[in-house]
Amino acid sequence: MFDEIIYSPIEKLHFAEFENAQLEVFIKRDDLIHPFISGNKWRKLKFTLREAKSQHKNHLVTFGGAYSNHLLACACAGAKWGFKTTGWVRGDETNNYMLNLARWFGMNLRFCDRTAYKNRKDIFEKHHANDASAYFIDEGGAGYLAAKGCEEIAHEVSGFYNHVICSVGTGTTFVGLASGFHKLYPGTTVHGVLSHKSSTDIPALKSVFPEALNNTLLWSEYHFGAFAKTTPELMQFIQQFAAASGIIVDQVYEGKMMYALFDKVKQGFFNPGDRILLIHSGGTMGLLSMMV
Ligand SMILES: *Cc1c(COP(=O)(O)O)cnc(C)c1O
Repeated sequence: MFDEIIYSPIEKLHFAEFENAQLEVFIKRDDLIHPFISGNKWRKLKFTLREAKSQHKNHLVTFGGAYSNHLLACACAGAKWGFKTTGWVRGDETNNYMLNLARWFGMNLRFCDRTAYKNRKDIFEKHHANDASAYFIDEGGAGYLAAKGCEEIAHEVSGFYNHVICSVGTGTTFVGLASGFHKLYPGTTVHGVLSHKSSTDIPALKSVFPEALNNTLLWSEYHFGAFAKTTPELMQFIQQFAAASGIIVDQVYEGKMMYALFDKVKQGFFNPGDRILLIHSGGTMGLLSMMV
């Protein structure tokens, strides 16, 4: 399980903005790892699902919003490696192509109101306590094992980058990435671009990854209003970026990260000669919601 050789090349981005600022900008294409177990979801599920298997749990119970990349990833991974899957969806019963895809991979979807959703452990206890095969995975796949999986990104990189940048939801990817880079490349600064205004799990995660405490920076000014909110400016940027690079970035996470990079370059945030590595954490399916 998760033994496949994954394809996540590092490509150079060619933009006049970068050349004029004397920057070299690269992108690690984790979005190419798998169409449905996309980007960081592959990395975050790797050790979690191995742990479930080792405990002989063959029923994954997990949580997410109605457009959750994580629910879809769990559904597909479950189908691929022989787990039954239940996905608890936050909010009123609804339907969309993401949930339908999850159903196609055999996920049993259940809905719960937003108040109940806050206590996900309680939902698990109430509905799955009698099922000895049930294994709890929190929303977004967040947790220690998930961060461990993201540490591996640093091992796939060769050469030195002054800055590594990723998008931040729960912050699991960011902390794992920071931990991995600071073990292998202590001089690298790892930047996280917040996709929302709320606080994150980062403080709790950092306590188990002390290596990740140093040389990290969170960019909090690029949430575009709130989680999953967009503006016409952001959507136009995403379209122009796709047309100029051949790379799709979604409007919830990676588009905000990419916008932030161009904005910081414009502000003169980086030093001439800096080498920058962006992590494309996938989520391309999410953009389809904007195309109907
Ligand atoms: C889930 C997801 C994130 C957020 O990752 P965290 O580890 O929760 O911070 C970022 N980008 C994409 C595309 C995602 O699907």
